[in-house]
Amino acid sequence: MARLKKILVVGGGTAGWLAACYLAKAVNAVDPASVQVHLVESSNIGLLGVGEATFPSIRGTLSAIGLDERRFLVGATATYKQGIHYRHWVRPPGSPGHSHFFHPFSQPSQRPGGPELLPYWLLGAAPDGMSFADAVTMQSALVERNRAPKRPTDPDYQGPMNHAFHFDAACFAKVLAEHGQDALGVKRHVATVDRVELDEHGAIDRVITHELGELTADLYVDCTGLRGSLIGSAMQSPFRSRRDVLFADRAVAMQVPYERPDTPIPSYTISTAQEAGWIWDIGLQKRRGVGYVYSSRHTDDARAEEVFRRYLGPAADDLKAMHIKFETGYRPEHWRRNCVAVGLAGGFVEPLESTGIALIELATYLLTHLLPGDTGDMERAARHFNEMMVARYDRIIDFIKMHYCLSQRRDSKFWTDNADPASIPQTLQDKLALWRHRPPHRLDFVSDLEMFLVSSWQYVLYGMEFKTDLEPMRSAYPHLEEARQEFAMIRQVADHAAHDLPNHRSLVEQFCREY
Ligand code: FAD
Repeated sequence: MARLKKILVVGGGTAGWLAACYLAKAVNAVDPASVQVHLVESSNIGLLGVGEATFPSIRGTLSAIGLDERRFLVGATATYKQGIHYRHWVRPPGSPGHSHFFHPFSQPSQRPGGPELLPYWLLGAAPDGMSFADAVTMQSALVERNRAPKRPTDPDYQGPMNHAFHFDAACFAKVLAEHGQDALGVKRHVATVDRVELDEHGAIDRVITHELGELTADLYVDCTGLRGSLIGSAMQSPFRSRRDVLFADRAVAMQVPYERPDTPIPSYTISTAQEAGWIWDIGLQKRRGVGYVYSSRHTDDARAEEVFRRYLGPAADDLKAMHIKFETGYRPEHWRRNCVAVGLAGGFVEPLESTGIALIELATYLLTHLLPGDTGDMERAARHFNEMMVARYDRIIDFIKMHYCLSQRRDSKFWTDNADPASIPQTLQDKLALWRHRPPHRLDFVSDLEMFLVSSWQYVLYGMEFKTDLEPMRSAYPHLEEARQEFAMIRQVADHAAHDLPNHRSLVEQFCREY
């Protein structure tokens, strides 16, 4: 039996440093010197630097690697994120009716022993015209009033409202690099991997760097970003494109300074639908991160930049735009022999629901827990890992596609193509057909394979004005009056909470001052 003694992470972006920190912490929980974790990163090849919005799982990950919340906020210039505000996704601007909705991170309120509120919302028990998210959680009311998700006295990474973070990707990698080396014993090398040599079984034998010669390990974690230098070029693990479902394959992005130092910072991502995609707009401590994600089949780079600059207005007049190419898809074999891809090297789903970093967290978590003690027996672990990753990707792709295909927008070919059933996976079509007659239920989802809980599907489904006809089942729902009281109670509690929770910008500034 060959015991795992050394892991080499290749790449020092978000994926590389997050993987190195998590692995170093997890595999050495008892004996700090049990498994050496090394990371090699190139000083010539930059990181992508646009993954700025996260998913609530990030709190568990940062807490697991022992990074102090205030240090993280200062180092990564982070702010809080409580959900995503979708603008003009339901209908184009100027159409009658609602065109916006909110996808909050907090779950629908559920009083112990009380009724589940969704069926009663569908049966009209909520106050007139109130959206599902507004009716069942107070989070949208709180973010509208610029409230933070936690109080200054709440413990690290905890608070009454579920949340994630926005941060500067380059600063985040830097703070993780410091923490990984100072507190977790990760050994950093600065060098560019030029070549990968395989052994007689097709596993990686060594990587050859320009500056330091050869580096060896028992397990190689490929975090080289879209290049996928180990898993793709060397291990020949193929990439499965899903561009037939999710069309976006380009982005144009900018870092936009605030007009004033006290400009309020929204604690949510703003996603505004456009003629060939959507624009993300997120608030960091000192600037906004903004980008237009679009489909090159439906517009060109020049037109995309024009649309993007129109959205930004004079704030962007002197700023240079960064153009990025990507493709939704993944490698069905993220893990092949002794090489595992984490991050963009393994795959990517366009960033509508900020799943990139969450998939990095997932891959690292799975890797840590499935890693066999005997490095000679990696095939079985790899198969299990790959099945879990593929299932997650496919479900995330269904979830993202749902945003597009439920839109009532028909104002450009991008939107009509998105509604074409030929572009909608059968698994999603089946779900939507079922939900015409009953709402999504926890039992529709196999929890170990899902990134998005049933509540997220419900928020987006009903935010997009999907119709579920519960009338034939009305007799199954006898608690109409109780549900009405519950809806009223949520509004009242929101008023109290708005007094209890601090202003978002003030809390971030206080935490940074105190550090
Ligand atoms: P990179 O950031 O590209 O890092 C690659 C690293 O590998 C670098 O350090 C580089 O120096 C090193 N490297 C490469 N080749 C070599 C070599 N030969 N030798 C040594 N080192 C090497 N995710 C989210 O969660 N939220 C978002 O809001 C979000 N928005 C996105 C928007 C867009 C338009 C795109 C394209 C992606 C977005 N993502 C988002 C995804 C997110 O950017 C990535 O998941 C994240 O940045 C991780 O990237 P990475 O570390 O895999 O790759």
